[in-house]
Amino acid sequence: MARRDYYDVLGVEKDASADEIKRAYRKLAIQYHPDKNPGDPQAEEKFKELAEAYQVLGDPDKRARYDRFGHQAAGGAGSPFADVDVASVTDFFESVFGDVFGMGRERRRRRGRDVRVDVVLDLEEAAKGVERSLKVMRRQPCTKCGGSGAAPGAKVETCRACNGSGQQRMQQGFFVLTRPCSKCDGAGRIPTRPCPACEGTGTVRREDTVPISVPPGIESGQAVVLEGAGEAGPHGLPPGDLVLRVIVRDHPVYKRDGDDVHVVLPVTFPKAALGGSVRVPTLWGEVELKLKPGTQPGQTYRLRGKGIAHRDYGQGDQYVHIDIGIPTELTPRQRELIEELDRTLDGAGAAHAHDGRTKQRKGLFEKLRERLGG
Ligand SMILES: [Zn+2]
Ligand SMILES: [Zn+2]
Repeated sequence: MARRDYYDVLGVEKDASADEIKRAYRKLAIQYHPDKNPGDPQAEEKFKELAEAYQVLGDPDKRARYDRFGHQAAGGAGSPFADVDVASVTDFFESVFGDVFGMGRERRRRRGRDVRVDVVLDLEEAAKGVERSLKVMRRQPCTKCGGSGAAPGAKVETCRACNGSGQQRMQQGFFVLTRPCSKCDGAGRIPTRPCPACEGTGTVRREDTVPISVPPGIESGQAVVLEGAGEAGPHGLPPGDLVLRVIVRDHPVYKRDGDDVHVVLPVTFPKAALGGSVRVPTLWGEVELKLKPGTQPGQTYRLRGKGIAHRDYGQGDQYVHIDIGIPTELTPRQRELIEELDRTLDGAGAAHAHDGRTKQRKGLFEKLRERLGG
């Protein structure tokens, strides 16, 4: 990926003041912060790019060198932040602004990896919420050493490579990067002899069945974060999260529009003309709908509360769009009846009404199509 100009990344002018740069970084970094965008790799990339830009433009010396030599001054074409874990970038953000989200630094200290799993739901499940169990392959605490990574009888000592901080600091061109210590995986502690079952990491990979719960009203692309249900942390560090990326399948009958759903209901011409009750499928079971006499094609009825349940409040509605089914095959008797009807309807008034209806029908279906995006 080509590196963008740091001023463009932060959306500031070349002559922006230090204060403007800091404010621009704060605003954008909060917008793309991983705590606000769990399970979104694009937001994570953006968040890293912002930190990279601010590390340079937020420092008068580095900024002056960048203005003269551009990215060259940082050494190399690739972004030094590309393969840094996001916790380090979050640490950097907090070193500038403090704990903006009040999550506490401990929550984000070295821990197990997040596990991302796609969950495909039917519209019915998205509407009502769902509890199910999911098979997840992930690292779990080693049962032989209880997660410490130490062989029986071995001691756990402070890691000499990082002096117990769990971090390695590296200078690379302009940038100061922090990485989890490679010797102790960020734990800051290390056993004198490693547990043979887990080679000293304190974790082993295995498949478990994990109960999950998705709240009602979820939409495709949204994520559900189950805290602590990710991979166990190495050497007894806290676990990561399980991030469920939800995909809601399109439904053959219901079209979703936020919390509302739309269906097209075909009724016969006599039913539409005479009115009466028809059965309508909803996400919550079949209901009876009373058609008014003279119901027109494209006319819409609303069934309150029969849409998608909302996460916090209320419930959407179901809109029923009436379509008139014209029979393609007729018995001689039916043909006779319709011909007779046709003779009674013939005349200027009827032709006029018919024109009006056609126009109205087109308008309504077009509106529906626009709303639902084709
Ligand atoms: Zn270490
Ligand atoms: Zn072990």
